[in-house]
Amino acid sequence: MASDVSVQRVTGLERKVLWMERLFCYSCERLVPFEQRTVQETYSVRGEDITISAQVNHCQECGEQIFHEELDRKNLDIVYAEFRKRRGIVSPERIRSIRSQYNLSQRALGRLLRLGEITIHRYENGSLPSDAHNELLILIENPLNVKKLLDEVGSDLSPSEEADLRSLLGVLLRTETQKLFVESAKKLLGDYSPTIYSGFAKFNPDKVKEMVALVCNNVEGLSKTKLMKMLFYSDFLHFKGYGVSISGLRYAHLPYGPAVHGWNTMLAWLEREGIIEISPSEQDWDLITSSWDLEAVMEDSEVETLGTVIKTLGTLSASALSDLTHLEKAYRETKKGDLISYEYALDLSLEI
Ligand SMILES: [Zn+2]
Repeated sequence: MASDVSVQRVTGLERKVLWMERLFCYSCERLVPFEQRTVQETYSVRGEDITISAQVNHCQECGEQIFHEELDRKNLDIVYAEFRKRRGIVSPERIRSIRSQYNLSQRALGRLLRLGEITIHRYENGSLPSDAHNELLILIENPLNVKKLLDEVGSDLSPSEEADLRSLLGVLLRTETQKLFVESAKKLLGDYSPTIYSGFAKFNPDKVKEMVALVCNNVEGLSKTKLMKMLFYSDFLHFKGYGVSISGLRYAHLPYGPAVHGWNTMLAWLEREGIIEISPSEQDWDLITSSWDLEAVMEDSEVETLGTVIKTLGTLSASALSDLTHLEKAYRETKKGDLISYEYALDLSLEI
């Protein structure tokens, strides 16, 4: 039994006789039949009392308790689990998952934290980490803190282990930054309640992804301007037919016609998520393409609306499309920088 635990047995609650087995009783000095009892046991772990229903074996001849390693271990596991819960101490599973996040062996993690070679092995096998070690383990769940540790404190890792870890950290930190970027971009684009300016729909990032990918897949030589016009017509046409937009995006009056309010943020978000690729074309504008696998979240009627827009306007040049939008009441009756109300959709030149 670990040195930081003492135990005190209290009441016998239940007895179960196991006739077929024998255990060695040190009082009787021979193999004896024994019985298993469930007793309330109070363990003291680092000064904290923890009471559990423990299984213990007793000699049937003299009544003395017989030590049984496996049972004792099971009881301790229950006690430690309770202690961990109360004190916020990392579980063996959590340590294993930290280790696998950084692709480290038990020994390597020990060397990274300068805890000695077998400390992690002991913790993963159920020993309780000290408070200081516990804090350290929780801290390094964040890759940023591992980088800080390597940069500012150093470790006992070999140069090649450290190089591997640093390159993995690079990937993890980029992923983390990426996640933060995507989250804040979505928030920036869609942090509003549905109103007439969003076509009475809530911003739906999954539908935006699918709309953009569908336009990319079906329109040749797609520029940013052209993509904006295709999205504008799709959302407004759908509102005209069904009283609700597809994406929940808001559109603003910009010099080249209506465009998604926050279009720059939107394109950066879609590019980071791997939905679109933006590359320079032979002309002086950027070409937008997509090789993303669709997830089919749009409703049939929404796909039909998009199809109508692509069929009617998809072959027009960006400037022809821009000219067309300038004729729309949605554009004529709004000023530069204004959000465009979907009420203008009723006067849209397209029909479903
Ligand atoms: Zn005995």
